Amino acid sequence: MSDHTLTVVKRSSKKEKPASDQLVFGKHYTDHMFIMDYEEGKGWYDPRIVPYEPVTLDPAAMIFHYGQTVFEGLKAYRSKENRILLFRPEKNLQRINTSSERLSIPRIDEEQVLEYLKQLIEIDQDWVPSTPGTSLYIRPFVIATEPNLSLAPSKTYKFMIILSPVGSYYAEGINPVTIKVEEKYTRAVRGGTGAAKTAGNYSSAYKAQEVATKEGFSQVLWLDGVEKKYIEEVGSMNVFFKINGEVVTPQLNGSILEGITRLSTIELLRSWGIPVIERQITIEELFQYHKEGALEEAFGTGTAAVISPIGELSWGEHQVVINHRQTGELAKQLYDKLTGIQTGVEADEYGWTIEV
Ligand SMILES: *Cc1c(COP(=O)(O)O)cnc(C)c1O
Repeated sequence: MSDHTLTVVKRSSKKEKPASDQLVFGKHYTDHMFIMDYEEGKGWYDPRIVPYEPVTLDPAAMIFHYGQTVFEGLKAYRSKENRILLFRPEKNLQRINTSSERLSIPRIDEEQVLEYLKQLIEIDQDWVPSTPGTSLYIRPFVIATEPNLSLAPSKTYKFMIILSPVGSYYAEGINPVTIKVEEKYTRAVRGGTGAAKTAGNYSSAYKAQEVATKEGFSQVLWLDGVEKKYIEEVGSMNVFFKINGEVVTPQLNGSILEGITRLSTIELLRSWGIPVIERQITIEELFQYHKEGALEEAFGTGTAAVISPIGELSWGEHQVVINHRQTGELAKQLYDKLTGIQTGVEADEYGWTIEV
């Protein structure tokens, strides 16, 4: 038997599922998980779907000490006709390899892993919730497992996929959020790891978020780490502005995470004939546009919220209210179109969804 044949070991009894109106993000996990191992010289081996359970690691495993790890986040949606749809999953698997490359982690076979993912979801298909707005969150990740405190890439890894049913991000309706422009802390710098989904980027952002939360803000808007001038992202979302009828988003520069919702938003807008400009934009420039009455909308994009409208921006002494703290027309159109395609309500004219 080849090392690449998928083994499946099912749980003897299924877990109890949470009610779909009581799903808390990241709290519930399905019956099974996918796991495979890597060894230098041997490659990835022993792919298996097994009951969801803790993994045992040596205390010297390199993940604990130097954070050599990458992750992804995507969702499976249940359509009205009971189909299970994935939204551009190949992009997530390409991106985990891009992240891995930055962290000196070996690549996975994207096509093969997509097949493993589909099989895992099929086995746990009863866990894909059907209430509007709910979905099954998918978290693929890689960890360095070699027990060794040397400062060098691990020679062994585990790749895993876990699944978590999640509730509607907008259970209380879409409410534009208040954002603090972060002037003290930095998320990422050019040449660093900002473009990779790797653990350290997120734990190092907690401090800024903690302070912002205490001050009454929902999220922070990150500026570039060198000059603290150029807009990069908002929380862990990409950011868009509608200015004078055109849409502007920061251009990818090596410290911004290349979001798949960002890409889809750009592609949708262009197909609607709305100009989108990827360029550097300073916070000063943005506030100037607001003064001139040209800043029409602002919103974040990401898998979790899809589109998250920004109602107010606070930059030191300066505060601006955007679109009367109402969800903009464009944000609403994008939200409806993206979620429509994701859940199979709208025809997928772009070929973005894959059925499990
Ligand atoms: C994941 C992520 C995004 C959004 O990416 P999507 O593919 O759209 O979910 C944006 N910024 C950061 C920092 C992220 O980690």
